[in-house]
Amino acid sequence: MMNLTSPSQVKAWCIEHGFHPNKTLGQNFLIDRNALISIVDAGLEGNPATVLEIGPGLGVLTEEMLKRGVKVTAVEKDPVLADRLKPALGNPVNLTVVKGDALETELPAADAMVSNLPYQAGTRILLELVQRRDIRRMTVLVQTEVAERLAAQEGGKTRGLAGVWAQLDYDVKIVRKVAASCFWPRPEVGSSVVTLERHDRNLGLGEEERKLFHRITKQAFEHRRKQLGSIFRDYIQSTLRAEELSNEEWIAFVKGLSGQ
Ligand code: SAH
Repeated sequence: MMNLTSPSQVKAWCIEHGFHPNKTLGQNFLIDRNALISIVDAGLEGNPATVLEIGPGLGVLTEEMLKRGVKVTAVEKDPVLADRLKPALGNPVNLTVVKGDALETELPAADAMVSNLPYQAGTRILLELVQRRDIRRMTVLVQTEVAERLAAQEGGKTRGLAGVWAQLDYDVKIVRKVAASCFWPRPEVGSSVVTLERHDRNLGLGEEERKLFHRITKQAFEHRRKQLGSIFRDYIQSTLRAEELSNEEWIAFVKGLSGQ
């Protein structure tokens, strides 16, 4: 079997099979063993039995997770990569491959999600999964800029909808940086490993309140330079701007509105 953290073996496979990594699909394969170990270590904390992986690519994360005894369901959009994955890893019984777009496929339930997410679709896939709330722990490799937005607390420039929405039910932490040189082809920017661990601080929020939370925060961040008091004129008196509110304050605002 090919060593997936050997750049020369990965390149040789591509040449041999006439495979050209597709930029639009965010195909930057992880070729660094240290980064691989730290993402899988972080991803399998808490000993999940089942793991969902989006975009397995050549299977570098998939192979390591299978080796550690978990059941993996991998969703891959590229038909060439999806078709080769199972046989290339020796037809493991614990691997299910779904050929399709993660944004258009009903993603299966799992204890954890571990992925090196494609740049273009990554944030959307993640925001869909955090709103589902059924996966306890998600560990993703994303561009550092995306990682910082997901983890952003109130008050900073990177604070935006992604962070506010992700943190509604998940604690977001940046575990480590992964240099651009750890991928082939080499992306333009660096990446970071991020964990999202579900918390239960907002279990009491009902579906209607959650809808309102999403609607209100979306509206507020669409006018990020405006004061909240001018966006929600009839409902709140505030000179603060969207990025300055903590999630607790957003929730209090939403609860106030739905109680009216
Ligand atoms: N996990 C591998 C590959 C990462 S590259 C590694 O770490 O080396 C991103 C992968 O996501 C590619 O295999 C790409 O084909 C796949 N991909 C891109 N968009 C996707 C989508 N919408 N749904 C599922 N897979 C997608």
